[in-house]
Amino acid sequence: MKEQQAVNRQTYDEVMLPIYSPAEFIPVRGEGSRVWDQQGKEYIDFAGGIAVLALGHCHPALVDAVREQSEKLWHVSNIFTNEPALRLAQKLIEATFAERVFFANSGAEANEAAFKLARHYAITKYNPYKTKIIAFKQAFHGRTFFTVSVGGQAKYADGFGPKPADIIHVPFNDLDAVKAVIDENTCAVVLEPVQGEGGVTAATQAFIQGVRQLCDDNKALLVFDEVQSGMGRTGKLFSYMDYGVAPDILTTAKALGGGFPISAMLTTHEIAQEMGLGTHGTTYGGNPLACAVGNAAFDIINTPKVLDGVIKRHELFVSHLNKLNEKYDIFAEIRGKGLLIGAELKNQLNHRSKEILQACAIEGLMMLNAGPNVLRFTPSLIISEEEINSGMKKLETVIENVLKNK
Ligand SMILES: *Cc1c(COP(=O)(O)O)cnc(C)c1O
Repeated sequence: MKEQQAVNRQTYDEVMLPIYSPAEFIPVRGEGSRVWDQQGKEYIDFAGGIAVLALGHCHPALVDAVREQSEKLWHVSNIFTNEPALRLAQKLIEATFAERVFFANSGAEANEAAFKLARHYAITKYNPYKTKIIAFKQAFHGRTFFTVSVGGQAKYADGFGPKPADIIHVPFNDLDAVKAVIDENTCAVVLEPVQGEGGVTAATQAFIQGVRQLCDDNKALLVFDEVQSGMGRTGKLFSYMDYGVAPDILTTAKALGGGFPISAMLTTHEIAQEMGLGTHGTTYGGNPLACAVGNAAFDIINTPKVLDGVIKRHELFVSHLNKLNEKYDIFAEIRGKGLLIGAELKNQLNHRSKEILQACAIEGLMMLNAGPNVLRFTPSLIISEEEINSGMKKLETVIENVLKNK
């Protein structure tokens, strides 16, 4: 075998599209909520990818699922179906409002399918003018051109020429704003029950209920993007269950494969049947390897032990954050649900999340932000108490140091 040349952070700048600016260290191995870099330095992982690693790094059940399926069948194309995909679809249907499933490979692809379905359903069932999509400021739905256009952040959507039309953005949690723009030409209202990238903001109960009613009154579909909030992240299998309000279409991804790329769009039979043979498709979506991992992850996540554990861990994180805040007065708000927690910075730390993240890496803590002013915590759903305590100790050290640096 050809000898492999050493690579390092500088290699990144030489060979990769310059759209990210990754941390200086390169992780090479992970186990649970611990990660080691090229130099063998250990990190506690409070990020879990970006809310992806619901069961931490290299969970034995997922490793087994990959190994077993990889020795049987990797791929067949959607000209055939396969057992892992059918089983995972059955599980998702059994556990949710849904009756039909479409598998894809990423959150954006699941959303792309959802938005195409919502448009196609309205056009075929009602009329060609029913195409308006109502979405929300600060929302994030992925980076394909349709999903980035439905997303509510100009920094991601601008600079690529003419956008898909008939998409309106209104402020999140503002029911009157929705009321003002929804009409008979609206095909869908799209929202994240807990906005993730936009700063970790949960929808209020009244808002979710009100939007559901407005959708029903206007024959518009309600689409929940649970790519980040789904699969146990908020302490329920999907966060809509916390609100007791079911959508017409739901997308999920990140935690669905526990780190293996897979996403799903769920809907009802009535809506699904408007999507006829050949109207949509994907090469890799629903491949046996990804679905086998998805099945293994699902069986562990959808248990009282893991879901109730999320609530306990939420409380531990929040109590640590409250203590930090009492001591240093640095958070304007601590918010979110389950293990999707945001701490909004204020005073001396205002808009310094990037700097904090970099200092965390040096201290041996993998952290995430949600915009310049919010620290985001999205660890493994089964992170240990000891790991939470030890990571929080590191965070405190970082905060002390950053405060000293003015
Ligand atoms: C991450 C995310 C997406 C995009 O998922 P990709 O897998 O990056 O395409 C879409 N919606 C939400 C809410 C997300 O958090």
